[in-house]
Amino acid sequence: MATIAANIQQVQGRIDAACARAGRPVQSVTLLAVGKTFSAASIREAHAAGQRCFGENQVQEALVKMDELHDLPTRIEWHLIGPLQSNKTRAVAQAFDWVHTIDRLKIAERLSEQRAADLPALSVCVQVNISGEASKSGVAPRDALAFAQAVAKLPRLRLRGLMAIPQPASTLQGQRAPHRALRELQGALNRSGLALDTLSMGMSDDLEAAVLEGATIVRVGSAIFGRRAPAE
Ligand SMILES: *Cc1c(COP(=O)(O)O)cnc(C)c1O
Repeated sequence: MATIAANIQQVQGRIDAACARAGRPVQSVTLLAVGKTFSAASIREAHAAGQRCFGENQVQEALVKMDELHDLPTRIEWHLIGPLQSNKTRAVAQAFDWVHTIDRLKIAERLSEQRAADLPALSVCVQVNISGEASKSGVAPRDALAFAQAVAKLPRLRLRGLMAIPQPASTLQGQRAPHRALRELQGALNRSGLALDTLSMGMSDDLEAAVLEGATIVRVGSAIFGRRAPAE
């Protein structure tokens, strides 16, 4: 079985190749390693291989791992990429560096109120339901501008950009379409006066399509840590 370090190298190779094809510098894409369901030991292994940015989608699971990894000499940058309930905002405001899944103003307001004054502003992305799936979180594209403008006003948040989990597609063209739509939405928001520098899109199966369409953060789990146990 491939080691986590070898998997990271392989994923980075895929990112580099997609960047070359898109004419983008490789430093313009950050690899976020998604360790959900995997142990702190797996994250420690990725950290030893030089990985510094980690994503988790469950708050409680993340807090346990942060505790277990407190001794690491180089700090980890923690990103929340899963749903956030209002009773967890205080813990998230204290422990995370980024939240990618902002789609309710009430949650954003709580995070801003609860972010400690001695920490830098919390970096956040607005989650957009780019494929218009009834079951998916995220604001509708037509609501994104007004919502992002409201989030941008919150003093202890730093609105960085947009995040999406597009519907899976089997061809590269099919994968590129929703990623392109998210990039075009970001462009429209920036022309309306926002200053978004982040597109959080692309996972193990579609990161090439995402990088070709301008992703600045790709969120990769199974291609690094292996297959997850079936969802609960
Ligand atoms: C699990 C997860 C990922 C990573 O998915 P893989 O297909 O394992 O790479 C990315 N983004 C979100 C929001 C996730 O929940």
